[in-house]
Amino acid sequence: MAGKEKKGKKPKKNKPTSKKYSKYKIEGDKITLNAKFCPRCGPGIFLMQSNGRKYCGKCHYSEFEGKEPVKKEA
Ligand SMILES: [Zn+2]
Repeated sequence: MAGKEKKGKKPKKNKPTSKKYSKYKIEGDKITLNAKFCPRCGPGIFLMQSNGRKYCGKCHYSEFEGKEPVKKEA
């Protein structure tokens, strides 16, 4: 009689929620944005910031801080 191994379900891992709300700051009755929108995707899509670089996870637009973005002709 072989002991059957219990097959447990994989522990559920919740996806990290989008922290869009954290980009907004509420000061009094004013809402200020703490992040930049993607110039390509338009408002609603934020650019992620890392190492002095801004990056859009949607259209892969990237911007270097302190530099004007190089415009490519599509
Ligand atoms: Zn974008």
